[in-house]
Amino acid sequence: MLRKCILTLFLGGIFLLFNQPQAEAAAPRIDGKDRFEVAVNISKKGWSTSKTVVLTNYLAYADALSASPLAYKKNAPILLTQNQFLTPSTKNEIYRLRSKEAVIIGGTGSISNNVINELKSMGLTVTRIDGKDRFVVAQNISRQLSNKGIAVIAYGLNFPDALAIAPYAAKNEYPILLTGNGSLPSATAAALREKNITKTYIIGGEASVSNAVKSQLPSPTRIGGANRFEVAENVIRQLNLSTASTYLTSGMNFADALTGSVLAAKSNAPLLLTTPTYLPNETKSIIQDKIVKSFTILGGPASVNTNSTLLLGKFVVLDPGHGDFDPGALGDGLKEKDVVLDVGLRTRTKMVSAGAKIIMTRDDDTFIPLADRAKIANSSGADTFISIHANSAGSTASGSETYYNTAYNGAASKELAVEIQKEIIKRMGTSDRGVKEADFYVIKYTKIPSILVELGFITNPSDAAKLGSTTYRQKFADAIFYGTVNYFN
Ligand SMILES: [Zn+2]
Repeated sequence: MLRKCILTLFLGGIFLLFNQPQAEAAAPRIDGKDRFEVAVNISKKGWSTSKTVVLTNYLAYADALSASPLAYKKNAPILLTQNQFLTPSTKNEIYRLRSKEAVIIGGTGSISNNVINELKSMGLTVTRIDGKDRFVVAQNISRQLSNKGIAVIAYGLNFPDALAIAPYAAKNEYPILLTGNGSLPSATAAALREKNITKTYIIGGEASVSNAVKSQLPSPTRIGGANRFEVAENVIRQLNLSTASTYLTSGMNFADALTGSVLAAKSNAPLLLTTPTYLPNETKSIIQDKIVKSFTILGGPASVNTNSTLLLGKFVVLDPGHGDFDPGALGDGLKEKDVVLDVGLRTRTKMVSAGAKIIMTRDDDTFIPLADRAKIANSSGADTFISIHANSAGSTASGSETYYNTAYNGAASKELAVEIQKEIIKRMGTSDRGVKEADFYVIKYTKIPSILVELGFITNPSDAAKLGSTTYRQKFADAIFYGTVNYFN
């Protein structure tokens, strides 16, 4: 009898694993202990072998800004090196790729002849694309590309704008030409003529590329923005780029975005930029408007913090019960409607800062009928629905419980209930009343995976003390948050 139960549980577990269409895994990350390793791991992800590698200096972004279209054309990864010697992890990767040719971007100030000799001794032929300044380097790179009639113009004295457009430019083989703010460098003007450019995209606002420069460009379209994040956002909006898959990387340093740009181009994916510790509003806005679901994070946790991406692209409806003339359960001077609203708002804050999109059925003291709550969930396009309540009974009843319903998405709903219940018991020290099936309206008629959590008994002195405490309300919110994170993972 016991053995049969265990077997059933085991098979049930396997079934659950393969039957959760709603629960996509957290965003994969291409990591590394430093920027060299991130570049190597990007290369490993995109290339099993590669005839050509493109090499740039790990600190000198100026030369590298224009390299992505050339690397893409040659189907070559961009790897980073130190100036005086070939960085060992990069060297190993070149061996793994069985490369025959290296293209060096920049002069000896970026990559010394020692590195060239090292590459030659490994059996590679080496080409250097050089120039007296970054504008000439960009011009010389453009000479290696086909004539498409279109060029991208970016500010050459900083990196974020040029990188935001790099996958798009690479995919279309448009040269990335550079400019100063106030005047168009002669090398860039020459490149526009040589490449028969009839249309240009200016990347960045007037603070980066002035209108004086714009007036010298053939049919210019500006893709601007108040900051680097908005420029990256507007690149996606104005060019209407597919966001079926995306790469998220730090906008604060160039290395991961540069080395990732070729892989992003190969995946037809735009770059989204973030800060190390939080997702900027501009990036959130594009994720939410386009309902972006597929992310690859480029770089280690120091570049893109894990906590800021735990619910990246997830969409949750939070439903604090009751409201207005309906106070819900009463006890110990507390009203359920106030407690659950506060916990709901705290949960929202926590989830938003982890990259989630949130709809609340109510975010103030309003009464929403049960049918409307289910309707909000069903028309939202969200991944999950979480209804938050507090219980009442005689003063001896206590503890937390979480409910699900099997009318729609029963297995996923139960899984979400299990994860949230587990976190609540772990973090709150309330007694465990378990996960239960019930016919509550909001979980019965909500078609997406949905749960209803009863945080505790407002009528029990020990539970009520927690429900009344802002510290504990935050812990309840944390528990709902982490339970949701675990569910998605
Ligand atoms: Zn209630």
